[in-house]
Amino acid sequence: MVPMVDLSRQFAEIKDEVCDSITKILESAHYILGQHVQEFEKKVSEYIRTEDAIGVASGTDALHLAIEALGIGEGDEVITTPFTFFATVESIIYTGARPVFADIELDTFNIDCNSIEEKITPKTRAILPVHLFGHPADMDRVMDIAKKHNLYVIEDCAQSFGANINGKKTGGYGEAGCFSFYPSKNLGAYGDGGLITVNDRGLSESIRALRNHGSRGSYIHDTVGFNSRLDEIQAGILLVKLKRIDDYNRKRREKASVYSMLLDRSLKLPYEKDGTYHVYNQYTIMTTKRETIQKGLKDNGISSVVYYPRPLHLQEALGFLGYREGDFPNAEKASREVLSLPMYPELEEPLIKKIAKIINNLAS
Ligand SMILES: *Cc1c(COP(=O)(O)O)cnc(C)c1O
Repeated sequence: MVPMVDLSRQFAEIKDEVCDSITKILESAHYILGQHVQEFEKKVSEYIRTEDAIGVASGTDALHLAIEALGIGEGDEVITTPFTFFATVESIIYTGARPVFADIELDTFNIDCNSIEEKITPKTRAILPVHLFGHPADMDRVMDIAKKHNLYVIEDCAQSFGANINGKKTGGYGEAGCFSFYPSKNLGAYGDGGLITVNDRGLSESIRALRNHGSRGSYIHDTVGFNSRLDEIQAGILLVKLKRIDDYNRKRREKASVYSMLLDRSLKLPYEKDGTYHVYNQYTIMTTKRETIQKGLKDNGISSVVYYPRPLHLQEALGFLGYREGDFPNAEKASREVLSLPMYPELEEPLIKKIAKIINNLAS
């Protein structure tokens, strides 16, 4: 089966460097919050161009700790998209705050800024845009709305490491940028990991305390925190990959443009807004013939996945929010028609051609 992501290919290329780094860390006998985490945090903050970056245990924790550290909780509302991975909303719910959805735009699948303002109430504290599939949300407008209504902005950058708008990287706009290093993300670890970029020193200190049991060191605890740390081995691996991330993203973009050149125009192909740099964590098309196409691909040994088959407002687990079918027509349409195709930097062109041919035959 042709996989969605082929991580073994990438590992083969960086094996020596990765194994060297892991061996050194194992020999150093320093496994938690050591120099590799520190160095990785520094390099990422330089890369995203933020004051600071704090490594945590996962992307979900990055979101949770950022929201918590901003003092958002019980009685507060956070506006976000219903078309995203479930963790975006779990993180809001962990803090006691209530997720409030705004519909998406169908060209980028990101939150529609035209529908944010009507969702703002006196309880709203933050907007949480997701840069879905690697395409940046419309951050200029999100920041304008946030400023006008005095709201925080927390960016879910789990799928957008390296994406930018006119050179300004995702994760550098809001109060907090939340990243995931789950293996299949653009910058992936060999296990779980996450990170929060911040521009405010006070916020950075709060998050550093929260990730380590609410302690600023030496067993003195100012608050009740969590155990959520990026470990040294993952940081060592991520340092090896961070050097290559621009190259990986460039290759993803090349593969995406080959797909887009070959695929039938009757399909809705990924869109890149003017000035934005899409990093294609997923290459996602929309089609009313999804079932036929997915079966055709499977019969030819090619994977494809529906991200995401049910919008969050219709998930059973979120029934308590009281949403109904029809509330977010674009998110619902996307859930019915999206299909993500194999996408990774090492994907070969002949394979893209084969995939496109199968799809085109079934699409027309
Ligand atoms: C992967 C992902 C997360 C969660 O990251 P983990 O590291 O798996 O906890 C959150 N939001 C989005 C959009 C994601 O894709």
